[in-house]
Order: sequence, then C-alpha cells, then structure tokens
Amino acid sequence: MISDTIAAIATAVGEAGIAVIRVSGPEAIPEVDRIFKSRIKLSDAESHTVHYGHIINPQTKEEVEEVLVTVMRAPRSFTMENVVEVSVHGGVISVTRVMGILLQQNIRLAEPGEFTKRAFLNGRIDLSQAEAVIDLIRSKSDRAFSIALKQVKGDLSQQIKKQRFTLIETMAHIEVNIDYPEHDVDSLTSSFIKDKCSEVMEGITKLLKTAEEGKILREGITTAIIGRPNVGKSSLLNTLAHDNKAIVTDIPGTTRDVIEEFVTINNIPLKLLDTAGIRETLDIVEKIGVERSKNAVNEADLILLVFDASQPLHEDELVLMEQIRGRQCIVIMNKIDLPSMIDMDIVKRYFNEESIVRMSVKAQEGIDALENAISQLFFSGNLESNDLTYVSNVRHIALLNKAKQSLQDAYDAADQFIPIDMIQIDVRLAWEQLGEIIGDTAGDSLLDQIFSQFCLGK
Ligand code: GDP
Ligand code: ZN
Repeated sequence: MISDTIAAIATAVGEAGIAVIRVSGPEAIPEVDRIFKSRIKLSDAESHTVHYGHIINPQTKEEVEEVLVTVMRAPRSFTMENVVEVSVHGGVISVTRVMGILLQQNIRLAEPGEFTKRAFLNGRIDLSQAEAVIDLIRSKSDRAFSIALKQVKGDLSQQIKKQRFTLIETMAHIEVNIDYPEHDVDSLTSSFIKDKCSEVMEGITKLLKTAEEGKILREGITTAIIGRPNVGKSSLLNTLAHDNKAIVTDIPGTTRDVIEEFVTINNIPLKLLDTAGIRETLDIVEKIGVERSKNAVNEADLILLVFDASQPLHEDELVLMEQIRGRQCIVIMNKIDLPSMIDMDIVKRYFNEESIVRMSVKAQEGIDALENAISQLFFSGNLESNDLTYVSNVRHIALLNKAKQSLQDAYDAADQFIPIDMIQIDVRLAWEQLGEIIGDTAGDSLLDQIFSQFCLGK
C-alpha cells in the first residue's frame, strides 16, 4: 500500500495570483499541521473546509507565509488519500519557501503524474482516464483539450463498459449451451452470437473512426514535404511557418535532417516535416537524412510533393510519384516565375488537376491556392460529429483493433457452426482486450461476473 506523503506545486508558478501546493498521502494532514499556525488544528478540521493561517518555520517558530489551507479527507479527494492544499499568494519566492519547509517534513516531492497514478492505484479513475489526464497536460489545441477532458470524465470508459456488457451477455448465453449440452448449437444460437458480435464490432469501429481525428487534433496532421534537392522544400516550409527555422541554400542537400514545424492553416493544425531530398546517395550524413525522410513519408497523413517546374522531370521523381500513389497528396509546381521545362503530361498521368498547385515560393505566388487545397482535402474527409467519444491513444487503438479481430473470429466461427466452446474463447478474448483499455483484466473473475449478473445454472 502507498504509505508516503507527496507534495507538488499544482499551479503554474508566476508572479501574479495564487499558487497552490498539493500534499497527498496518509499523513498529509498531521504533516502540514505541524508547520501551520491557525485558530484551528487541521487534525480537527472537517473534510472540504478552508482555513486561514500561517506557515511557520518549525525551528524558529517564526511566521513565514500567509496561507489558506484546504483539507480533503480520504476518500473524498482526487487521489482518494488525505489531501491538503496550501494556497500561497503568488510569487516564486513565497511558493518555494513554503515548498522548502514542507519537504523538510516527512513529505517528498511528487514525481510527474504521481497524483494521477495514485488516483488510478486507489481506484478513483481507470487507465484510460489516467492516460487522458496525461494527454490533457500535453494537448496543443482547444479542441484537443476538450476531447481529452471528456475522456477524463469517463466517456471512453462508458463506451467500453457498454460493449463489454454486451459481451458478457453473449458469454452468458453461450455458457448455458456449454453447461446444457442437450441444447444443440442450433442456428438460433449461431445467429444470436453473430448479431451480438456485429453489434460490438460496430461500436468498436465507431470508436476507431474517432481515433484518426483524435490523433490529428492532438498532434496536427503530419505533413511531409518531399521532393528532389533544391526544388524549394525548405523555402516552402519557411513561408508556411513565417519564420526561418530551416536553412535555405543553393547547394543541393542542405536539409540533412527532418525539420518539424507546427503551423495552423485555416484553423487546421499541421505538423510540417521538411525531409532531406529523397534519393540514393553515398554521403553518409545525408543517407541518415534520407532514411528519416522515408520514415516521414510513411508516417505522413498528407504529402506535399514539390517539383521545380523550371527543370525537366528527373527519373527520381518518377520513382517518387510511383511510391506515393494512392496517398493523400498535393503536388506543388514550384518556381513558375522561371520558364517552364517540366513535362506536365507525365505528371498528370499520376495526379489529377485538382491536386496540382502552381506556385512560386520566391515570388510568394500561389500560397493561398495551396492553403485552400489543404483545407479542401481536410474538410472533404468525413471528420464529423463533435459529440462522439474520441479515442486518442495508441494503446487504445491497438487494443480496439485486436478486440475487433477477435470478434470477427467469433463471428466466422459461429457462421461455420464451429463448437461453441471455441467461439467462447474468442468472445472472451475480445472482452479481455477491451478490459485492458480501462485497466480491468481480472480474467479470473469473469465467471463471477457472469454469475452475479445472470442467475445461470439454477
Ligand atoms: P530544398 O533543397 O528543396 O529544400 O530547396 P530550398 O528551399 O533550399 O531552395 C533551393 C533554392 O531554390 C534556393 O536558392 C531558393 O531560393 C530557390 N527557390 C525556392 N523557391 C523558388 C521559386 O519559387 N522560384 C525561384 N526562382 N527560386 C526558388
Ligand atoms: Zn531544403
């Protein structure tokens, strides 16, 4: 069991306002009480009450800081432990002074995320909620923030629990058939299993559909800018980012590494990746860059393929066009300020007119057209519905996919009238995989759960 008491500054430290130090653990109340001077002893204070007083230096007994102290007794707190929150009048100096005195008691500095971890260990929140708290801290846009917030409140857990309940029902139904072999695996049972599997698979598919948007909102649409050296990739990135982060030169192959830049185009968050020119090379440093850029292309949600329209097509570019066939892509014909040399007929064999944008980064022409092309692509995708539960975590996505596969197996098995205890294995697997998302893998208690909800076998 958790026995130590931890503390951390719970608010951003700044010059203005109030800073809150949160102390959590079985001894939180007596530990703070020892250095708190007030009309009331904290040990006598009722839960969820606020008290005015001073933090004192325990050696000299002198008053160090004027504070408000809030007491929240277990289990009615975020961590489900005894929690004391000390509100200090802002200012870095006052906060660190109080923190210093707290840490001289039997209180240690909390590790990042430790309050949340305790909330999980004490059963206050489940795994998906704990992970959402982490996302919440990391989230970059308002939209992503509200999605993460929803997950903290337990939306995802609710959805998962609902699907798991259906699976328990199904298992209970199957269990009857195993226990009473005189019930043949008739077509009625088979179609019942198939119906239930389909129902849950549909629910999972819906959750998975939100995963893409969840990812997009948290990280931005990963956009790889690719093309041969010197076509203007870094210049384009700079223009889009409105600063000069990437080095632009006339020497081919300057961009040796992948450069990342976050930008917002028509309110769409993009994570731009400037890749090294994709081509075979003997230069070792550049080779690493080339490897990375291949990875960048593989990971990209969107590809911006840049050509130098003042040059004839290069055979590397034919390879590139071939490679990105079928991907979300915008073709950029750059340097239209110079006389055109490129063979557009060949390019048009690969891409339709709507996905080709002619521009001159140098002359700042065609930027709007590119931005419009990007937003058109984004909004044509069916990224609907604000009120769905969003899945935004790689682990969740993997588990949802696994569970879906298990259910497909169960469905197929039922379809082929395979012995019913075999089907049960797959359904149970799906139930466990969904359970892992919310941190409930109590496999052994499965039958208990079935029997507590359904009075079977009597
Ligand atoms: P990268 O190797 O693909 O990243 O290409 P850079 O962005 O480093 O650009 C290579 C060279 O092309 C630089 O000298 C740029 O100034 C120049 N350049 C970029 N865009 C244009 C353009 O639209 N027109 C002309 N004439 N030159 C350009
Ligand atoms: Zn470059």
